[in-house]
This record gives sequence, structure tokens and C-alpha cells, in this order.
Amino acid sequence: MKDHKFSPESLMMSHGYKPELSEGAIKCPIFQTSTFVFKTAEEGKAFFEIAYGIREKNPKEELGLIYSRINNPNLEILENRLCLWDKADDCAVFESGMSAISTVLLEFLKPGDLLVYSNPVYGGTDHFVNHFLPSIGVDVLGFHPDESIDDVKKMIIATGKATNLSMIYMETPANPTNYLIDIQAFADLAKEFSTSERKVLTAVDNTYMGPLWQHPLEHGADLVLYSATKYIGGHSDLIAGAVLGNQEVMGRVKVLRTFLGNMISPNTAWLLLRSLETLKIRMDKQTAGAQEVAKYLAKHPKVEGVNYLGLLKEGAEQYKIYQKQCSAPGAMITLDVKGGEKEAFQLLNNLKLIKLAVSLGGTESLAQHPNSMTHAGVDSEQKKRMNITDKMVRLSIGVEDAKDIIWDLSQALNKVEIGKKELAYS
Ligand SMILES: *Cc1c(COP(=O)(O)O)cnc(C)c1O
Repeated sequence: MKDHKFSPESLMMSHGYKPELSEGAIKCPIFQTSTFVFKTAEEGKAFFEIAYGIREKNPKEELGLIYSRINNPNLEILENRLCLWDKADDCAVFESGMSAISTVLLEFLKPGDLLVYSNPVYGGTDHFVNHFLPSIGVDVLGFHPDESIDDVKKMIIATGKATNLSMIYMETPANPTNYLIDIQAFADLAKEFSTSERKVLTAVDNTYMGPLWQHPLEHGADLVLYSATKYIGGHSDLIAGAVLGNQEVMGRVKVLRTFLGNMISPNTAWLLLRSLETLKIRMDKQTAGAQEVAKYLAKHPKVEGVNYLGLLKEGAEQYKIYQKQCSAPGAMITLDVKGGEKEAFQLLNNLKLIKLAVSLGGTESLAQHPNSMTHAGVDSEQKKRMNITDKMVRLSIGVEDAKDIIWDLSQALNKVEIGKKELAYS
């Protein structure tokens, strides 16, 4: 039994925390402090040499605590625990998912570089990629899940900028459509475009599945990104983000975080440590509930279609990708109501248990209308191309009894009047 390896879920209560350093407290206290006292001036000097990369760290040396923008025990313990799920060398936690994403894009993309990204992506990411990056001279090229690797390769070459390709960014499953992108295939494509001087990096936004049901680093990705606001936080009471990867890329991400100053606060990190203790049981329960809800919706006469990973048909291209890189279907569902916006809004306005709100991954079930809410800012032609329609409703399934969620959807769908014209005043 000597070499027994605990699974991440068993280590979420204790990993990386030493009670003897905190008066024996079973739980890690909140280190609500801006700065840390050095024992000697020599020690302070040595810590800065490591923090600022002035010299290499000795094998046994650890970076001491300096200042909470650079490091803090709550942040470090949280980062160590997140590393366990994705088997990453290192992690950096941020004050939001968007700050994690924008810091990675700013660090690895310079004016003249080309970014290739999958469509659709989270609305905020879409804005940063299509509006901010071009304004600093970064070229962007979006592709769609129905385009083959070969198609994308040709598109990259056709830009005439293949030698400037710096990063392939994927969101899989995509928000809100649940479309999957083959991480391994795009990591291989990145290798094809890499040279000895220039490695094309691959980054994956794993918010929908992670950190449990998909591990992008195992499929060749260099960076994995999270909105920790969602499943990792899981209680709809905080905003946070995380990035994971190997020592080399994370060193760069952490240096930029130090100078942008967009690290998480000790208080939010502490809340996430608490969230991580129940992450596995929450995601298990949410996934089990979602499977029942999706099955129910798929048979409902007022529902035209359901996008859910648990309903993918064997043999389909998307199913093959699912089998390759996901271990469970997760708890995000989109459905198309028969009709359009009017019918979708009738469904949303009549829900009693499920709350009408954006965001996802929390303990309570949420419903929203991507076309007019989370993806309102996305170009309308693009939305059509991505099947984000006015009849689409997105559900995030919480930990409630699935019977109650189904009851709620059933009574709300009953009130949807398909195709009925508004009564005109005569
Ligand atoms: C919510 C979300 C983000 C943005 O995260 P914030 O924590 O809100 O900044 C990024 N990607 C995906 C897939 C998301 O769902």
C-alpha cells in the first residue's frame, strides 16, 4: 500500500496545507494581509531574486512569501489543488475568467501575430478576440466545428500569415451550443505550424467540463483556462478564473499577472478552497440530473431539438470526439423551442424553480436566452452560422431533485403557445 495514490477528490480537503503553520487550525485561515515579514534582509533579497527571475531557483529552494500581488498562502494552496485535477505543473488564479483569458492572450500574442480560434466562444472572449486584439495589430481567424482540420489548415495558409501563427484557441464544449472540438487534432496541427524558434501554442477553455470531465493537457494542449465562477466555485457567489499548464508557459503567465495585478483576492481564494471540497459530488449530481432532464426534453412535443453531449448519436463525428476526450456529458443543455423568441420567452417567464439568469455551473438550475443575452454582442450573421437562434434556451442544471426540474420545465412548456398570434385590438 506504500505507493497508494489518492484521487484528487480525496485530497481537496488537505492538499498543500500544513496545520502546524497555522496554530493547528484544521482549515486554512484567510491570509488577509498585503505583505509578509522577512526574517532577515538576506532572505528578502533571495525571495526577490527568485520572484523576478534574477537567478535560477536552487533545487530545494521555495519562493518565500513576499507581497499578496506576487503570492499568498490562500492562492498557492488553491493553485496546488487545482493542479491535481488537470495533472498540471503549475496554476495561476485570477480575479475572473476573463482576466485569465485576456492575460493568456496578451502574454502569448504580439502585434503581427495570428490567432486561430474556434466558434462559438464565450461572449466576452468573442469581444476580446474580435474587437480588442485587432486594435493592437493581432490578426484573428475563426473556424467552425463543422470544418475539418484540413479546411482549417487551408484557411490558415490562405491568410498568407501561417508563419505568424502563435496560438490555436479552442472552447470545447462551446458555450452555448455544446459543439466539441478535437483537442488532439488541433494540437497536432499546431505542431505542424511550429518551427524550432517558434512553438504554436494551443489553449483550451475547459469551463463547461472541467476540471472533472475533460483534461485538455492530456490531449496535447499547452494551456487550460477556466472561469472558476462556474463549476469550480459552484455556488453563484463569486467571480474567479484559473490557468494551468507546464512550468515554462505558467512562468510567463504568472509574471504578467504580477504586473497587471489581476490575481484573485485571499478571501475569494478561500471560498474556492471550500468549493473544491464538494466539487466532485456537485458535478456528479448535476451531470446525473442533466441526463434525465435532457432525455425528457428530447421527447417533448414543443421542443424541436436538444443539444446535450449525453444525446450524441453513436457513429457521429461529434460522438467520436466525445468518446476520445470527455468522460461524462456534463450538465449544460440547450433546447430549441418550437417557434421563436416569443415561445422561448414564454418558457423562460413561466419557470418557477429554475431561475432566469446568465452564468452556469452553480448549485441552482439556471435558464437564459443566448441570442438576446450572453451572446447578444456577437455578429448576427455569425450567430446564424453557429446555430444560435431566437428559439434557443440554455439550461445549467443544478443539484436539485431532477424530478422537480422536470416538473418545472413541464409546467412552463405547457404554457408555451406555439405560433399563436398576439390578439390585435379591433
Ligand atoms: C463565464 C465564462 C467565461 C468568463 O468568465 P468570468 O468568470 O465571467 O470572467 C469564459 N468562458 C466561459 C466558457 C464561460 O462560461
